[in-house]
Amino acid sequence: MAELEGFEYGKSDFVLLDEVTMEQFLENLKLRFEKGRIYTFIGEVVVSVNPYRQMDIYGEEAVGAYRGRELYENPPHLYAVADAAYKAMKRRAKDTCIVISGESGAGKTEASKYIMQYIAAITNPSQREEVESVKNVLLKSNCVLEAFGNAKTNRNDNSSRFGKYMDINFNFNGDPTGGHINNYLLEKSRVIQQQEGERNFHSFYQLLRGGSDDLLNSLHLNNDPSEYLYTKQGSSVTSSSDDRRSHREVMRALQVIGFSQEEVNSIYKILSTILLLGNLQFVSDGESVELVGGDTVKHIAELTSSEEESVSKTLLYRTVATGGGEVISKGHSEQEASYGRDAFAKALYERLFGWIVGQINSVIEVKNYNPALHGKNTVIGVLDIYGFEIFDNNSFEQFCINYCNEKLQQLFIELILRQEQEEYHREGITWQHIDYFNNQIIVDLVEQPHKGIISILDEACLTVGKVTDTVCLESMNNKLGQHPHYTSRKLCPTDKSMEFNRHFRIRHYAGDVTYSVEGFLDKNKDPLFQDFKRLMYNSSDPVLKDMWPDGKLGITEVTKRPLTAATLFKNSIIALVDKLACKEPYYVRCIKPNELKSPMLFDEARCQHQVAYLGLLENVRVRRAGFAYRQPYERFLQRYKMTCEYTWPNHLMASDREAVEAIIVQHSFEEDVAYGHTKLFVRTPRSLFSLEQERAALI
Ligand code: ADP
Ligand code: MG
Repeated sequence: MAELEGFEYGKSDFVLLDEVTMEQFLENLKLRFEKGRIYTFIGEVVVSVNPYRQMDIYGEEAVGAYRGRELYENPPHLYAVADAAYKAMKRRAKDTCIVISGESGAGKTEASKYIMQYIAAITNPSQREEVESVKNVLLKSNCVLEAFGNAKTNRNDNSSRFGKYMDINFNFNGDPTGGHINNYLLEKSRVIQQQEGERNFHSFYQLLRGGSDDLLNSLHLNNDPSEYLYTKQGSSVTSSSDDRRSHREVMRALQVIGFSQEEVNSIYKILSTILLLGNLQFVSDGESVELVGGDTVKHIAELTSSEEESVSKTLLYRTVATGGGEVISKGHSEQEASYGRDAFAKALYERLFGWIVGQINSVIEVKNYNPALHGKNTVIGVLDIYGFEIFDNNSFEQFCINYCNEKLQQLFIELILRQEQEEYHREGITWQHIDYFNNQIIVDLVEQPHKGIISILDEACLTVGKVTDTVCLESMNNKLGQHPHYTSRKLCPTDKSMEFNRHFRIRHYAGDVTYSVEGFLDKNKDPLFQDFKRLMYNSSDPVLKDMWPDGKLGITEVTKRPLTAATLFKNSIIALVDKLACKEPYYVRCIKPNELKSPMLFDEARCQHQVAYLGLLENVRVRRAGFAYRQPYERFLQRYKMTCEYTWPNHLMASDREAVEAIIVQHSFEEDVAYGHTKLFVRTPRSLFSLEQERAALI
């Protein structure tokens, strides 16, 4: 019981703050962090601070304490939210989702794993085999996705470099029957380049360090990551995790999920192909370009089940259609050849990742579910996705990520408002309008057809001829210069942080971000010569071929331009928001206490920044303006009837509602509640806490 802890641990719900100010918020957050209380509620939202140490709060005992209980009956915890989402799903057949947000290293992925573990722990009490196997695959998929989608960065040793949304399906018993994973915007540039101190995706190091000599020999690899350009650029080939052990775990997980040995081999061959590609070099004698790299091309041909000659030709030439409809082979310049090689390596990895996710999905997909027989199939979605990013240098990736966060914020506003409004209306309670910033205007700035930034980028990418990043920026400045959330350098000539012709700034809901336009067009276009696609499509490795269906087309048949990266991302985020919008949302807001991964340090400036952009103060205000808690009269009565002489052991009143009124009056909580048609609405947790205390003393 939260309040039974007493206030020496701070306030377990920010709604209880005396005043909603940043100062008080931070003071409470800090106090709780220092006392080892890493979770705090804002109503049903859990605010979490990364403890950077193992906490003994996730065991069986904790699971037991939260299982089936109401939110305010226990101290704040991820389990409380997981249980609330699960209860809504089971009792009311509602689809729910848990949205976990926060910046890199704030603890999102760990939180998502604890939530999944909790759900696994409380379901399938009768240990039915088919349910256990679904649970097992769901849990094991994390390990595989982390191997291929996570990397060591300067912010987080195990940073997810992709966004993940996982649906878990449940049958009418409330047991998991399957699921589906969606992945978003894998950071594929990492495959070819890493910053100082960072690594490529874990999978490469796990293979090199953990693969047996025989395996590595067959893949034409040795076991030293510092020998491959693609794994050594960050000069950081080690990590805090044990690559060798992880390799074994991932192998086992792949097996459990149901990957065949051939499929696993194909995965390794692709990883090896990428590493070998990275060590290929091109030299030019001024006229033609040649490959240097010994047997590398031969090895790549073997690994990709292709002809050696086709591989080298694809690396050095591209097929182009002339104006007259003729098809000719055009030699690359040295620069084009390196660019093509890198683009190929990135695409190989991206498709491999997508294919792995697809394979997992095909295993956990709900099959043969008949609602007539099995009842409604309900869903809990868990979203673990990159939070807002403001770096010293912000590029296309940050632009996409921050756009995604604008969309999620918009959803938050809509859902919270809409839901509250609907419920108050249904229950006949007067709704007081709460004023806060609606960020739709920024969403429009980015995504509006014809006028938005993405459209302008796409238009520039479609224009034939040399449209540079700078030209595109000019076009944006012209079209958007008047927009209240867009700033070009012209408007702020004294601002030294923005260079003319290079930067634009968006006033995001979370703060101002200055983007460097350099590389925007290339990243948006994301070109890959058709020849590479055809090479892969013609591979005799069925797994590889399967990943490249678009390689079927000849150069003259490729008429439609592929969608740009920004548009693909936009479409996937719109689809995600649609999915979330029809579910009952639960939120976990993660905060990173410091940059040093220290369990001791609460860096106030850093935390204040995060509290601000996560909109937590507004969140508290909304909660305080409305009613934080609500309960059907009957349930309320059952729980607290012993605290009032008129209701214990039974009441003689005309309705449960009147009996509840008697309890409220006896405790003088009239100011804190409102009576709906079927439910009691409670403004702050204060009254519930004291009722809980009294109840605990009586039973
Ligand atoms: P994010 O997904 O937000 O980038 P992670 O979930 O990967 O962040 O967390 C980063 C690191 O912080 C983890 O690898 C772990 O060391 C530590 N951490 C996060 N949450 C917890 C927790 N609840 N208990 C202990 N350590 C944690
Ligand atoms: Mg993560």
